[in-house]
Amino acid sequence: MGAYETHFDRSINERDAFWAEEAKLIDWHTPFTQVCDFSNPPFAKWFVGGTTNLCHNAIDRHVATRGEQTALHFISSETNAETKYTYRQMHSEVNRVAAMLQGLGVTKGDRVLIYMPMIPEAVFAMFATVRIGAIHSVVFGGFASASLAMRIDDAKPKVIVSADAGMRMGKVVPYKPLLDAAIELAVHKPAKVLLFDRHLAPMQTTPGRDIDWAAFRLSHMTTQVACEWVESSHPSYILYTSGTTGKPKGVQRDTGGHAVTLTTSMYKIFGLKAGETMFCTSDIGWVVGHCYIVYAPLLAGCTTIMYEGVPLRPDPAIWWKICAENNVKTMSSSPTAIRVLKKQDAKFMQQYPLPNLKYLFLAGEPLDEPTARWVSDALGGVAIIDNYWQTESGYPVISAQVGVEDTPRKFGSPSFPVYGFNVKLKSEATGKVTAADEKGVLTIVPPLPPGAMTTVWGDDERFVSTYFSTFADEQVYSSFDWATRDAQGYYFILGRTDDVINVAGHRLGTREIEEALQSNPMVAECAVVGVADPLKGQVPIAFVVLRDPSQASDATKIAIAQTVDKEIGAIARPAAVYLVTLLPKTRSGKLLRRSIQALAEGRDPGDLTTIEDPAALEQIRAAFTKHA
Ligand code: ATP
Ligand code: MG
Repeated sequence: MGAYETHFDRSINERDAFWAEEAKLIDWHTPFTQVCDFSNPPFAKWFVGGTTNLCHNAIDRHVATRGEQTALHFISSETNAETKYTYRQMHSEVNRVAAMLQGLGVTKGDRVLIYMPMIPEAVFAMFATVRIGAIHSVVFGGFASASLAMRIDDAKPKVIVSADAGMRMGKVVPYKPLLDAAIELAVHKPAKVLLFDRHLAPMQTTPGRDIDWAAFRLSHMTTQVACEWVESSHPSYILYTSGTTGKPKGVQRDTGGHAVTLTTSMYKIFGLKAGETMFCTSDIGWVVGHCYIVYAPLLAGCTTIMYEGVPLRPDPAIWWKICAENNVKTMSSSPTAIRVLKKQDAKFMQQYPLPNLKYLFLAGEPLDEPTARWVSDALGGVAIIDNYWQTESGYPVISAQVGVEDTPRKFGSPSFPVYGFNVKLKSEATGKVTAADEKGVLTIVPPLPPGAMTTVWGDDERFVSTYFSTFADEQVYSSFDWATRDAQGYYFILGRTDDVINVAGHRLGTREIEEALQSNPMVAECAVVGVADPLKGQVPIAFVVLRDPSQASDATKIAIAQTVDKEIGAIARPAAVYLVTLLPKTRSGKLLRRSIQALAEGRDPGDLTTIEDPAALEQIRAAFTKHA
């Protein structure tokens, strides 16, 4: 057996010994007495009896050994700001914010909702919250009032931390009016709102409720706030899923398991050592940002880069400039972002030599093989690593684990299950484990490993009924994604289970068809949905963004549709190809196929409060109307 297999096997077959070993990577105030309590399945408690604190492990414990090392390096291409905070400075700032939160009445177990742009103060607020044993719920900055109100009512925060505005593509996005409208809409009202003023947009304040960060901070410059030692299973945060498939779910995370897992993952998956630098381009509002901008790099003693801005400004080389200038070793981003770069001149990808950048991890959406090849060629020696996970899982479920073994990668595959995740592909019809290359639902045999979701916030019943009730024969966690596994054990994610379409009795994944379309060099991005058809049941239709819009023509549409014949077969060929300049996506960069499909079938596109740009749906609507 190779190193990967031995390691993985041990994580499943000698589970408690494996995690007891990993748990040594963090400090425990009181040692745990039991590694895993799975007496009430599917609920799992990790490191029972142990007490610890996330902020202590990410910041305090490093101050003595790496106090002068940069912990957080903030770069904004929106405001042209750049600031570095050493571990020692982080410690001071977090203490100040913790003191402010305490001053506003926050105590252990209270929720603090953080609705902030990508600025260091957001990170301080996260650490300050867990420092005092409170529970944060970060909501992606710029979410519309309705989305925010829903999360306020679900999390019921005592305090909301926010700012005057974010900035995107050089445009100020005022947050305060959105926040005020959300509080107005919400049934639950926060007692206090702590506001960081960036002086980007004027703010109307509500006296008695709204507190000015800068002024309040001044009265806490030297206040020391002790870390609250909490039970390992004490909730550290609530994070809502992206809502791609409907109403978002409040994922609850523990403290001890989360700290252990993220520390381990930095070494074993992301290939980093203490002192090295990670650049994750996600947003703190998403799980990838929580983990790999905020917690994991600091837990592991690394330097994290926090970037406010888009990949195209001031020019499409900005990310590679940041990597080159800051010795970034591991980068984490999304396929969506890479497809954005793919539409630009490839010269931007090569403008900066990147001798130190070893890995580019991509997650969040299927990484189609053509895009993977394109970025791999464009970046030369950088390993492109597809990794599959969910808000629920808390860290990658399927990924190469370069710190364990540098296993060969296959384009289009995120490689193998990550230690701790007992992944099984089950046939939806029979519940049986599928054969090689046969489609199945990606499931995980519980207990879910440390750091994975422990329940749905405030709704244990929903945790069981949503995630553990798909199969009658066995209580397994369902990811609601389809996958196959080839004879060598490589996994391929085919998309969501509700993204499968049935064409004249053939079950086709929309992802497979999209992947086929992507192999046509004219295609920059595409979305495929199934629409009802009187003859065939369903037919696939495609929306395509061209790399070069001047190529738009009927001949182009035909040529693009025919790409599918070659790759999959004529059965999967889209019945229609529509050319658009924009695809509807969530703010987290995921295609909103359910909304496209609803429009295509003349239904209501559903909750659109999390959409990135509503104009994209208008294009879809217009394309259909013209067609009809
Ligand atoms: P909701 O559950 O509210 O509908 P969501 O599933 O989009 O929202 P996330 O938890 O952010 O919210 O996304 C996880 C999903 O993203 C996965 O279930 C999968 O469909 C997709 N995904 C993530 N990484 C990959 C990947 N590497 N390849 C293919 N799909 C991926
Ligand atoms: Mg999901």
